[in-house]
Amino acid sequence: MITGKTQLLGVIGYPIAHSLSPVMHNAAIANLKADYVYLPFPIPPEELGKAIAGFSAIGVKGFSVTIPHKITIMPLLGGVSDRARLVGAVNTVWRTEEGWYGTNTDVDGFLAPLKAFNIEGTKMKPLILGNGGAARAVIVGCAELGCKDIGVIGRDSNKLKELRQSWAGTSLENLMTSHTWDELPGLIGESNLLINTTPIGMSPHIEDTPVSEEIFERLSADAIVYDLIYTPRPTRFLQIARSRGATLIDGLEMLVQQGAVALKQWLNQPVPVDVMRQSLEDYLK
Ligand code: NAP
Repeated sequence: MITGKTQLLGVIGYPIAHSLSPVMHNAAIANLKADYVYLPFPIPPEELGKAIAGFSAIGVKGFSVTIPHKITIMPLLGGVSDRARLVGAVNTVWRTEEGWYGTNTDVDGFLAPLKAFNIEGTKMKPLILGNGGAARAVIVGCAELGCKDIGVIGRDSNKLKELRQSWAGTSLENLMTSHTWDELPGLIGESNLLINTTPIGMSPHIEDTPVSEEIFERLSADAIVYDLIYTPRPTRFLQIARSRGATLIDGLEMLVQQGAVALKQWLNQPVPVDVMRQSLEDYLK
């Protein structure tokens, strides 16, 4: 029920109609009987500054940030976490006495299902497909896990170079190794954590896969294969990996867990992760 005391949360992006965040956050809010509502806000890039000022004026408590604002919002905030600075993007913002503060919970979201397997980070050898925004959070997550050699495959060597240079002077610069797609057949057998951060195979292109069956044959059967995509479930990439006997993780858990960390921050109380996950599973059916 919306009351006179209901507090406002939301997500900004452009477009935003595809966002699943309102579904899972409002399901959790209802379950907790918290006096909040979480709304989608389509904010064109040129209106971002005005929107943030408006949020301050109307007392918005906190909000999620998605494409295309994850990077451009950073200079508009009063402060950002070290992790958000390292990732180079903010996805969660809340109000403080000094103004808006931003962090990046995609790293928590990415790590949560891996931690559930009790893996030893120093023994993991990740191979990351793609070098875009999500890959940055994944690389930071792998470094936090303790991985010593983080392979990244991209199709544009200039972008790979820029990515590595963005971490100049930090430990990430030395942990990351850059590769092009033609190197994949030689690298896949050495990796025990293969992660797809490209949109290849995402609905409606569900027959596509970033790794062919032939190349997958080189993957070790004890590898973990992680696809950040959550529609379809499973992707063709994960279906092939399953036939190799690999352990699978799809993108839904990352989505749920990054949202759970954000909601816990806004509400300052534990949140029902199971309710959030179930609401998305029901919605995606
Ligand atoms: P992005 O910034 O656009 O990055 C996409 C990356 O994939 C880029 O490196 C791009 O290469 C590469 N790529 C795209 N098409 C390719 C192709 N045909 N062949 C080779 N490489 C290709 O997007 P993003 O924000 O990182 O998101 C990537 C995926 O992760 C999306 O499917 C998104 O839904 C998913 N995601 C999931 C979660 C979650 O919570 N589960 C969170 C974030 C993102 P170039 O740089 O050369 O263009």
